Amino acid sequence: MTTFLSGGTGTPKLLDGAGDIFSPAETTVVGNTGDDVELGGLLVCPDVDTVLFQQAGELDRETWWGIADDTTATHHELRRLAESADLAGGPRYLPDERQTAGRRISRWRRFSGVAEFMEIGDRDRAVHVTRTGLLDEGRTLTETTRTLADAFDVPLDLVPMSDDPVASIVHTPEGPMHFQEFWVARRGDPEVVDVEFRGADEAEPAPPVLDALRGETVVVGPSNPVTSIGPMLAVDGVREALDDATVVAVSPFVEDRVFSGPAAELMAAVGYDPSTAGVAAAYPFADAFVLDDADGTDLDRPVVRTDTEMNDAEDGGRVARAVADALAEVA
Ligand code: GDP
Repeated sequence: MTTFLSGGTGTPKLLDGAGDIFSPAETTVVGNTGDDVELGGLLVCPDVDTVLFQQAGELDRETWWGIADDTTATHHELRRLAESADLAGGPRYLPDERQTAGRRISRWRRFSGVAEFMEIGDRDRAVHVTRTGLLDEGRTLTETTRTLADAFDVPLDLVPMSDDPVASIVHTPEGPMHFQEFWVARRGDPEVVDVEFRGADEAEPAPPVLDALRGETVVVGPSNPVTSIGPMLAVDGVREALDDATVVAVSPFVEDRVFSGPAAELMAAVGYDPSTAGVAAAYPFADAFVLDDADGTDLDRPVVRTDTEMNDAEDGGRVARAVADALAEVA
């Protein structure tokens, strides 16, 4: 059994080419849910859904979110209506008392659907309607995720990190804001002072998670260590389970250069060097690393180097083979 810990970009790219090396029938992917938001009453799980669509062969590979060639009629009508009614564009975070009322999984990340600040495609929206409906009918997020994965013929086991709410909140000089507000609406512009995983202290790992980690082979794909892997590490028992696992991590950096996204700023804000060395410091449980050929970082653990830039399944396969080589060194 191999378990991948996934955010919404780097690990899905790796999974694109990993199927020949890590049999999907023996693979679990644990998706980050700290990025999830409730938008207009629908629970949107960006990281889990990227893996869902990637595994189904439906992912929009230009953006690395949403379904390829999806239409956006509802989204654009929401924007048009809001504009015609002179309603300010999003994100429209609901009042504090509404954040902890109602559906528990959506706590601290509830936005009105007015002027919808994230672009949700029409087919994509059907996934969120189904997920939220199943949650309201009483199923857990793990159950709804597996149901959706079956509907998309996903060959591996896709599970969320937790069935409890964990919200990644970025603290800025303007005040706290949910990660999606910081990243999607504000393009990562506000200065980051700190990052909080609200709810993590009370959150349990989803039922399959600890068994998928303890004593198993774990791959931490090239992810944002703060907002993609950080929420998982903040959940009770996950760090200890990783200590008991054989773990290989792929760096999302080439020395101090990221491929994409806000990993560098966020790492600096929480006290890690924004570099491969900082990733290694953030992952004391990792037994070996896969680094880019051009990354000369000297680490205290075994390293396998390859070209870690991934643009297609062939690239994902190359990095997956390097992961398998690194696992062989430390198994
Ligand atoms: P998010 O959920 O969309 O924030 O994304 P992830 O946490 O899954 O991945 C973000 C990280 O992936 C960033 O820090 C990037 O540097 C890294 N990344 C993106 N593309 C590549 C790539 O082709 N190769 C490697 N090694 N890392 C990548």
